[in-house]
This record gives sequence, C-alpha cells and structure tokens, in this order.
Amino acid sequence: MGSNNNVVIIGAGLGGITAGIHLARQGYNVSIYEKNTFPGGRCGNFFKDGHRFDIGATFLMMPEIYEKTYASFGRIFTEELKLYRMDPVYKVKFKEREEIFFTSDLAILKKQFEGIENGSYNKFLRLMPKGYDAYKKSLRYIIDHNYNSLLDFSLIKYCFLLLKLNALTRHYNFIKRYFKSEVLRTILTFQNLYMGKDPSRASSLFFFIPFMELTSGVFFPRGGMHQVVENFVSIAREHDVKIHLNSPVKEIKVNNGTATGILMEDGSFHEADIIISNADLPWVYNNLLPKNKLAGKLNKLKYTSSAFVFFWGLDTVYPQFEQHNVYVSGRHNENFSTIFTDKSIPDEPTIYVHSPVKSDKSAAPEGQDSIMAIVHTGHIDNRKEQNWETLKTLARQAILKRLAEEGMTDFKSHIKFEVCYTPKTWQSLFNLTNGSAFGSLGHEILQMGYFRPRNQHKTYKNLYFVGGSTHPGSGTPLALISAKLVTERIIKKRMFSM
Ligand SMILES: Cc1cc2nc3c(=O)[nH]c(=O)nc-3n(C[C@H](O)[C@H](O)[C@H](O)COP(=O)(O)OP(=O)(O)OC[C@H]3O[C@@H](n4cnc5c(N)ncnc54)[C@H](O)[C@@H]3O)c2cc1C
Repeated sequence: MGSNNNVVIIGAGLGGITAGIHLARQGYNVSIYEKNTFPGGRCGNFFKDGHRFDIGATFLMMPEIYEKTYASFGRIFTEELKLYRMDPVYKVKFKEREEIFFTSDLAILKKQFEGIENGSYNKFLRLMPKGYDAYKKSLRYIIDHNYNSLLDFSLIKYCFLLLKLNALTRHYNFIKRYFKSEVLRTILTFQNLYMGKDPSRASSLFFFIPFMELTSGVFFPRGGMHQVVENFVSIAREHDVKIHLNSPVKEIKVNNGTATGILMEDGSFHEADIIISNADLPWVYNNLLPKNKLAGKLNKLKYTSSAFVFFWGLDTVYPQFEQHNVYVSGRHNENFSTIFTDKSIPDEPTIYVHSPVKSDKSAAPEGQDSIMAIVHTGHIDNRKEQNWETLKTLARQAILKRLAEEGMTDFKSHIKFEVCYTPKTWQSLFNLTNGSAFGSLGHEILQMGYFRPRNQHKTYKNLYFVGGSTHPGSGTPLALISAKLVTERIIKKRMFSM
C-alpha cells in the first residue's frame, strides 16, 4: 500500500483496538493512543491484593459476534478463550418472595414460571421464537449496517422493521400484555438497565434480550471479560499495531476541512491520514474539535443512566450467590423515576452482584471472592443537586442492608478492601459525557440506527468514530460491530478514490 495509510486511533477501548486490527490487516499503519495506563476502557480490569476485577462488562453476550470477529482475524473464538457458559444466566431474587433461576433448562424454567402464574410458560414459549426472530432481524437490518443518507434504501427497510417489531410500544407495556405477574414482567424487562435505560420507557424492540440470552447463551471467559482485550491486544501487536498507553489526546487538529493529526497533552503532535476516535463521540465534539453547532445539539440529546460500582475484596465465598445475581427492589418500578427523572438513587435500589469465582477461581485468592455490586443512578446533571459522596454512602448502605436481608448479615465484616466508581469516576477516567456509563448516548428510537450520530464526521471526512456513542451503541459485541462498520466505511472510501 502506498501513501495515505497512516491511521491514528484515539482510545484503546474494545472498539478502538478491534478497528486497529481490521485496518492493519488491510495494510494500514495503525497507532493507538490511550489516555489510561491500561487498555480496554470499560472492558478493562484491575488487580488488588490478589483479587481481579473486571471494571465494567461481566457478561459475554451475542457470542456469534465474537466468533465472526475472531474469524475475520483468522482465529477461532473458542480456541482463543476458555469459555464457561453461564446457566443459569442469572439468579433474580425478589424481596421476601420468589427466587428465579433464569435458565435454558426449559423443564426448570417451566416449573418456576408456572409456580408464579398459571399458563405463563406457554406464553413464554410463544414469545421465544418471536424474540429470537426480532434479535436476528434487528442484527441484520438495524445493528450490523452502515447508514448513509435519507435516500438509503435500507432506511425504508429499517422503518418498516421498527413498525413490524412494535418499536413504538414500550417494552414494559408489551410484556404486560402477556403476563399478570409483576415478577415475570420484571424478569423479562429489567435487562434494559444493561443499556442504562428505563424499562417502562424503553422501546419494545429490546424485548429480544432475555430470549437472546437463553438461545445464544451468555458466557464468561477464564481470566474475566478483560481476557478478550488482552487477547485482542496481542493480535494487534502481531499485526504491528502500536498501542501507546498513558497518552491522552488534547486536540484533533484540522485544516481546510481535513483532520490533520492529534495534539497530545504532552505537546507532541502525530500526523495522520485517517483519525478514528474511540473516545466518547459527544465528548470529542465538545472537547477535541473546534467548537461548532453540532456539539451543542449533541448535548441536548438523551444520555444513559450512570452507576455506582463497588468492588470488594472478600475473605470468604458466599454460597448464596450465583455468578450473576439481581436483587430486585420491592419498589423496582417506582425507582425508575428517581434514577431517570430525579437523576439520583432510590432508597431501596435494585442491585446487581457479580461473584466471578463461581466459574473462575483465578479471580481471587483461594476461598475468597472479588465482588462487584452495581446500583444504577442518574447521570451527572448540573441542574440537579447531586452530592456523589453522600449518594455513594447511601448506595453502599442500601447494598449491605439488602445482602443482610438475604442472610448475608456478616458481609461487611468480610470486606478486606473497597474500591468504588461513581458517575464522576466514569466521567474522568474514560471521558464519558455526563458520566453516562452505558453509552454515553442513550438508546432511544430517535438516537439509534440511522438517527445515531454517524461514524464519519460530516465536515472532516477523514475523521471517524467507533464505540458506544456512535452506531450501533453500547455493549461489548456492539463495540466489535462498530469497529467492523467503521472499517467497511474506510475501505469503501479507499476503493472509490482509487
Ligand atoms: C458497569 C458496566 C457494566 C457493563 N456490563 C456489560 C456486560 O456485562 N456486557 C457487555 O457486553 N457490555 C457491558 N458494558 C458495556 C461495555 O463495557 C461497553 O459498551 C464497552 O466496553 C465500550 O467499549 P468502547 O470501545 O465503546 O468504549 P470505551 O471502553 O469507553 O473505550 C474508549 C477509550 O477511549 C479512551 N479515551 C477517552 N478519551 C481519550 C483521550 N482524550 N485520549 C486518549 N484516550 C482516550 C478511554 O480511556 C477508553 O479507554 C458495561 C458497562 C458498564 C459501565
């Protein structure tokens, strides 16, 4: 390959590294500049006193996307990672009530569903193929697809599919039509929280998630989710991709409608023919590029919720935990307005707990555990009074109280150390706008697909985007798809300019 082949990527998140490998395989010289001392961004990890913690992602979902990504690197997914299939996918525990093991063992699932509501299992079975079909169609026509212009024929297909999949109906209302039990309604809708979204407001397009979890499966790699990043970093290095850690980018330099290179915080400058930003898109428009109207418009869009994430080194292992646990609040539905409207935390929140040693003993010293507990909270909003230190204390108390109610009365005494990420941490560590940990941009119908900020800048045509805030959205498999889509766009442009 001749000239015009120097690619600079801002950020070594999963999206940035994956795009780097794709482009290196197409003959580009790729350099990645990451602000932090570790690669992986929200799929990073850290170690403390022999305990290992994944920072964000703990579910490996949509394994077929990983399979395809590895195959495009000439590798075999199941040979690169040692994978455990999570079954049950999670335990969902309701306050003083049912405990549901969400499992692909249909006999067990039937017994649990019928124990809660007569006839519910048959309704579930009716929804299952619909859910799987919606997943496959969304993947094909909405998610794994580059949008170009209003004249794009695929846009018609996209709108048609939204109508067909009842995308204008709200997810909770859609499920409510099928099930009387609040327990079952919760089990089939809480997954919106993965995307930082309120289930009572999310589009029913997302109703496929629990069905996808059971049919495609949810996995956990030995070594944790960050193992995927480690694996990709070594593949990137084999392709001569240069990854520079501890290298924050201060500015994207532009001239005459072209992005010319990146200015680093240390004053050095790196020229580039193509720049891809894996850093959060709205943050880049507001902080790395010359001011323009679009930055202001982006600020007015909807952003996902944020989260308090507690990482606890425990000197024991609790048998009460499965690997993935959801402790549903007695006020689960009422809580959404506290999180999404008041931008605060509920007194009695729904809590997610990850106990990695259940499948992977390497996560902690023998007989111990590396617990992650998540409480959702509103994102940073300057119009609200938000004292994050006070809210963090309340979140901690709420988790310990609930665990005590679940029989883990001595949990606090087993905590060896604590690390906590607040919305401020998500904002400062990864430059996520408003500390919105699951986007940053929200997944509303008018902020998805064709309507999500494009992966190519409108003015600076050699500036591209990859990751959670461009198309298709948040989640590790979507970061992989985003990397594939941006690569396709770059390659297509190269072909037309030859
Ligand atoms: C608490 C939590 C739980 C989650 N659980 C799951 C899960 O179970 N399964 C799942 O699939 N997904 C999960 N996710 C989502 C998933 O982790 C993310 O969607 C995915 O990792 C995002 O990858 P990305 O490449 O888009 O961005 P990021 O990981 O945010 O990477 C962007 C990178 O850019 C860097 N950067 C920013 N600014 C600069 C700059 N100026 N200079 C240089 N570098 C810069 C950042 O430091 C970062 O490393 C979770 C997320 C969170 C927060």
